[in-house]
Amino acid sequence: MKDEDISPLVRVGVIGAGQLARMMGDEASKSNVRVVVLATGDDESAIATADAVVFGDPRSMDDLRALAAESDVITFDHELVDLTLLSALADTGVTLRPSPDALRFSVDKLVQRAAFALEGLPVPAFCEVRAPEEVPASFFANGQPPVLKAPTGGYDGRGVHFPDSLEECHELIRAMGAIGPVLVEERCTLLSEVAQMVVRSVAGDVKLYPLVTTVQADGMCNEVRFPVTLDDATIAHANDLTTRIAELIGLVGVMAVEYFVTPQGLVINELALRPHNSGHWTIEGCVTSQFANHLLAVSGQPLGDTSPVVSAAVMVNVVGSDVPATPEAAAIDGAFVHHYGKAWRSGRKLGHVTVTGEDIATLKMQAWKSAHLYGTRTQETQ
Ligand code: ADP
Repeated sequence: MKDEDISPLVRVGVIGAGQLARMMGDEASKSNVRVVVLATGDDESAIATADAVVFGDPRSMDDLRALAAESDVITFDHELVDLTLLSALADTGVTLRPSPDALRFSVDKLVQRAAFALEGLPVPAFCEVRAPEEVPASFFANGQPPVLKAPTGGYDGRGVHFPDSLEECHELIRAMGAIGPVLVEERCTLLSEVAQMVVRSVAGDVKLYPLVTTVQADGMCNEVRFPVTLDDATIAHANDLTTRIAELIGLVGVMAVEYFVTPQGLVINELALRPHNSGHWTIEGCVTSQFANHLLAVSGQPLGDTSPVVSAAVMVNVVGSDVPATPEAAAIDGAFVHHYGKAWRSGRKLGHVTVTGEDIATLKMQAWKSAHLYGTRTQETQ
């Protein structure tokens, strides 16, 4: 199928049926598309909002073909995908947005680091090893062992290790190296972490969402704040880097770029080529949400306005709550409570709360109050 063959009411097939696909379903009517999700079971989050459901495994070619048969274009709500399979699917004429070539930069951290270093983009010093002896001495020079990462398959901090000693570092590399390549990375000094959503259309138009602060605890983002408190030059640098990355990888759809703010300036951490936790606040906070814009972009339509409609917003994730969301959580002044309709599991993201308004300190207090009433197991980081 060619781009120009896509009809106005495009059927967007989504590989994955988690909360991101669910929120795409919520916004589908604004983007004039139908959402068809590929779900592995009938308890998945996105089934409640999808126009249609195909049951199957994202790693089965037959099931991907079944989704393709119901869709005009295929997109993603997670990155635990088999790129070889997706490329084979694309070779049969199925339209995938973003493309498997673009997805490679988010699925494989080593591919991203190597390509960006070649382009002169700021990434942490890194190397790829299978055994401890292969790590250059410079990675231990500042007295702190490096960070060790599995290049693929990790999320929410799974697959990322911070060894405390040289011995632990070597032990971990041996264990990880027995399974596959290990990404060894300089441990950066983090002043803060920020993220930026961007959307790029089939025609190549790029629109940036404002930069936000992301607060991490135990490798998982637990709070997002708009606006950031960085100087204008750093914000302009992020805008430039995010745009360059979107163009470099040939993005279609939305993408999150996560940055470390270090004493040396911005350093790129990772990409997510899909709607992202750091963009949930855009549902209430921007003219067009990240979900609506993703659907507009992948269905070949012009992009929506990414401007903020609020002066400030705070989003808090609800993780591992063991009570169904309480009406009290939604009763907090200005709180928008989003339930993902998922069963409780320790450490699982079950929903989020966004509060919009004027003053970050007040919004933070309200958002956490609401998230605690919802029953989040996470705690506010100061
Ligand atoms: P995931 O892919 O599981 O989200 P990340 O690579 O984003 O994992 O790492 C999770 C968190 O670990 C980051 O948000 C950051 O707080 C910390 N981290 C990751 N890499 C480094 C690094 N090189 N230096 C310092 N901290 C890091």
